[in-house]
Amino acid sequence: MDFPDCPGLSATGNAEEGQGMIADRHHDVIIIGTGAGGGTLAHHLAASGKRILLLERGDWLPREKANWDSRAVFVENRYHAPETWYDASGRPVHPGIHYYVGGNTKVYGAVLFRLRKEDFAEIRHHGGVSPAWPVPYEEFEPYYTQAERLYHVHGRHGVDPTDPPASSDYPYPPVSHEPRIQQLSDQLKRAGYHPFPLPVGVMLDERNGRPTHASRCIRCDTFDGFPCLVNGKSDAQVLCVEPALTHANVHLETRAFVKRLQTDGSGREVTGVVVDHDGAEETYSSDLVVVSCGAINSAALLLRSAGDRHPNGLANGSGVVGRHYMRHNNSAVMAVSREPNPTVFQKTLGINDFYFRSLDWGYPLGHIQMLGKSDGEMLKGEAPDWAVFKPNIPLDRMARHALDFWLTSEDLPDPDNRVTLNARGEIVLHLKETNMEGHRRLLATLKGMLGHLGCEAHLLPRSLYLGKQIPIGGTAHQCGTVRFGRDPTTSALDVNCRAHELANLYVVDGSFFPSSGAVNPALTIMANALRVGDHLLERLGTTRRVAPATPSD
Ligand SMILES: Cc1cc2nc3c(=O)[nH]c(=O)nc-3n(C[C@H](O)[C@H](O)[C@H](O)COP(=O)(O)OP(=O)(O)OC[C@H]3O[C@@H](n4cnc5c(N)ncnc54)[C@H](O)[C@@H]3O)c2cc1C
Ligand code: SF4
Repeated sequence: MDFPDCPGLSATGNAEEGQGMIADRHHDVIIIGTGAGGGTLAHHLAASGKRILLLERGDWLPREKANWDSRAVFVENRYHAPETWYDASGRPVHPGIHYYVGGNTKVYGAVLFRLRKEDFAEIRHHGGVSPAWPVPYEEFEPYYTQAERLYHVHGRHGVDPTDPPASSDYPYPPVSHEPRIQQLSDQLKRAGYHPFPLPVGVMLDERNGRPTHASRCIRCDTFDGFPCLVNGKSDAQVLCVEPALTHANVHLETRAFVKRLQTDGSGREVTGVVVDHDGAEETYSSDLVVVSCGAINSAALLLRSAGDRHPNGLANGSGVVGRHYMRHNNSAVMAVSREPNPTVFQKTLGINDFYFRSLDWGYPLGHIQMLGKSDGEMLKGEAPDWAVFKPNIPLDRMARHALDFWLTSEDLPDPDNRVTLNARGEIVLHLKETNMEGHRRLLATLKGMLGHLGCEAHLLPRSLYLGKQIPIGGTAHQCGTVRFGRDPTTSALDVNCRAHELANLYVVDGSFFPSSGAVNPALTIMANALRVGDHLLERLGTTRRVAPATPSD
């Protein structure tokens, strides 16, 4: 049965309860985007009883065998959004971005790190200064703990010497190393390094390195960059959006692209959320509007919402919206080991010995972690990029010997690295590399360690993982474009992530970061959504504080 007055609403799931709610189109809270930020916030607010509408441009990610097909995922980019953006010269860019319920967490590697305590303060880099956040680590700590529980993070605090203080350990023990990675860890320790178990968000219950009969995750080789066919990955759809939708007061509209936000005459309040819903235009309103479209799309939405009162874009009196775009200096590389590497689930080891400095250099280099295991299909897609190294062994054999690494170094917030719109309203990404010397040294350091690791002295780029158009198409760690701060002349959001200039507009995705640190961003986005969520619950006047999720949830 369809409801003719309520486009997009069908009599399934909780839609019937949501019927009146949609008919008057007014809600207590609208959340735009259901990824790490929006999905987590929806989960946090759901039990409040407030009328909450989630607007998501994507659909549910199809569950199909292709979820685990490396050719479909990495070579054919089956789950990438079919979007064209442009670089500053007008050349087309096909971003490695995913529009689904759950956002980019549907395909992420689920390595869920806290930023280091020092990342919240100013840090001097070779290429410039990484600015301080307006709140200290201690403000985020309880929310990191909640987020680690909500997202079933497996790990052990304190093994990594750079680990910040934690009020409680991870809810689950680390994912075990397979023998080749255990050997690598032992070799690294003997060489004086401090390898540690990566914090991974996964619904894995293992005994002696094998998943139990009841474990959702089967510990397979298609984790990093793939959707999980059996819903074992801790993503925002499975752990946040679906549980939120079991509450009658929460409603989700998929294929609902938010085109722009409207304000009242004073320009101080958002009064309308204008949506392209399967080609039909609809307008919704709510007391509070939370934008969580990912750093690039949130900036684009605010810029598209320019009006008389906000000629440079909504919340953009400071001119910072869209600026300071960061996405880390990343490399995905492969070392060919002399002995075979039969590891299935490889993403279990990290190294932070060079996070702040190395023995011979006083500036930060960055972080090293294992990447999902490469296979022959991926290498066939990548081999044309290997200009310096023409392998003389079959690619399938090479993949069997490969150890795969992901290196992340901090990029710096440059105001000229920015998101703008062209005359057709399409996204233009302006990007020039910043602070690359530390990253170059990190790569050289790993290369220098290869002898100890029993590997050939080559590091081959894993270009498919990063996206074919390196560096600009690699948008996975996008952040910084709607930064928070105390000064309305240099930031768009206040410390609660409310727009300085609007009474009811919030942003809770990766765009609030004033600096990017050098660990993966998603846990910080989730923790911040919980932090802002507490502020919103207070503002909504609900006495119903939501208890942190427990591991059995
Ligand atoms: C291959 C890959 C691997 C990664 N691995 C890791 C990892 O191991 N660890 C880690 O911490 N991070 C990882 N990341 C990054 C992580 O996924 C992101 O940091 C995180 O998902 C960002 O959260 P967000 O809420 O800012 O945006 P997203 O999760 O991208 O969510 C934004 C949502 O908004 C929707 N949306 C956008 N525009 C609109 C609009 N106008 N109207 C309505 N809806 C809209 C999108 O469809 C999407 O659902 C990875 C990313 C990728 C792509
Ligand atoms: S390793 Fe586990 S969570 Fe990852 S894709 Fe395989 S089954 Fe899913």
